[in-house]
Amino acid sequence: MGIAVIGTGLAGLACAQALAEAGEAVTLFDKSRGYGGRVASRRREGLAFDHGLPAFDPVSAETVPALADLPEWEAHGRVAAPRMNAFPRTMGEAFESRMGTRIVSVDAETLALTDEAGEAHGGFERIVAAIPAPQAWGLLASHDDAFAPIAEATYAPCWTLMVGGVAGETAVPHRFAQETGVIALLLRDDAKPGHTAPAPCYVAHATREWSRENLERDAADVAEDLCIAFAAMTGLDPDGATYRAAHRWRYCAVERAVEAPFLLSADGRIGACGDWAGADRSGGDARAAWRSGAALGRAMAR
Ligand SMILES: Cc1cc2nc3c(=O)[nH]c(=O)nc-3n(C[C@H](O)[C@H](O)[C@H](O)COP(=O)(O)OP(=O)(O)OC[C@H]3O[C@@H](n4cnc5c(N)ncnc54)[C@H](O)[C@@H]3O)c2cc1C
Repeated sequence: MGIAVIGTGLAGLACAQALAEAGEAVTLFDKSRGYGGRVASRRREGLAFDHGLPAFDPVSAETVPALADLPEWEAHGRVAAPRMNAFPRTMGEAFESRMGTRIVSVDAETLALTDEAGEAHGGFERIVAAIPAPQAWGLLASHDDAFAPIAEATYAPCWTLMVGGVAGETAVPHRFAQETGVIALLLRDDAKPGHTAPAPCYVAHATREWSRENLERDAADVAEDLCIAFAAMTGLDPDGATYRAAHRWRYCAVERAVEAPFLLSADGRIGACGDWAGADRSGGDARAAWRSGAALGRAMAR
């Protein structure tokens, strides 16, 4: 017996850590093979990109004790090295984990989980869903009225572009945000402390508006369009890049949060947490995810 935590993003890991500190046995589940959720990194052609959360901003770092030992990237916050996903991986590997396992249903009576291959995962006495609100709603909607607020949360998407090994230098700073245009944020990942790479590695975040308008397009076509915007912004020619690809985050940033630190079923056996939850509608970011997960873990510990 023990507690199953579905989702190994910051919320799931914070929850698992709080439960483990209280002596609970935790098993992690994630549909991805890697830990971290939106704290995501990709290695290709000897290059590396943080195509999710670029850095733990100073506000997050102040409230998450586990980030204190990470190096600071100028004024932009703290970063894990050699890539951002090193932080969740170190935390996640401490737990029994069933990675590459997408949970498609939760049985509210038996607490058995079923994955997309039809395999049942049973023997748990409590369940945590630490996943984005629309996905949590899919699993928990029919279980308990306590979960009804999940339906209120909304997210903005983000298309990100990775460009590595492009020749030449640009005058654009290593972290550059702008209000207009297709690209809202440009980052030079190999400039982060401890992020060495044999060639420049850029990550660009498209604006919310552009991402929304182009949400259902093919990733290769989106990469072409974002490369044109990248070239116009930097003066660099991405046609000669070693690696270029676009990644879609359908649920990137919370636009409307739920006014609760977490949600718990009436019998206390099923809980839900994530960046969509915030006690005073302050949900919506990495800090909110951590706080929500840690608070739920403390509440469910016996
Ligand atoms: C490009 C980008 C930029 C960002 N910039 C910032 C920023 O500057 N500052 C900031 O504070 N925040 C930022 N964020 C947001 C921040 O990363 C998130 O708020 C936070 O990481 C969310 O953590 P979470 O644990 O709630 O969810 P997630 O990280 O999404 O974790 C959920 C996990 O659940 C898994 N999962 C989902 N459904 C299932 C299922 N059915 N079965 C099994 N596993 C499942 C997923 O694979 C994932 O690993 C950014 C995010 C992105 C993508």
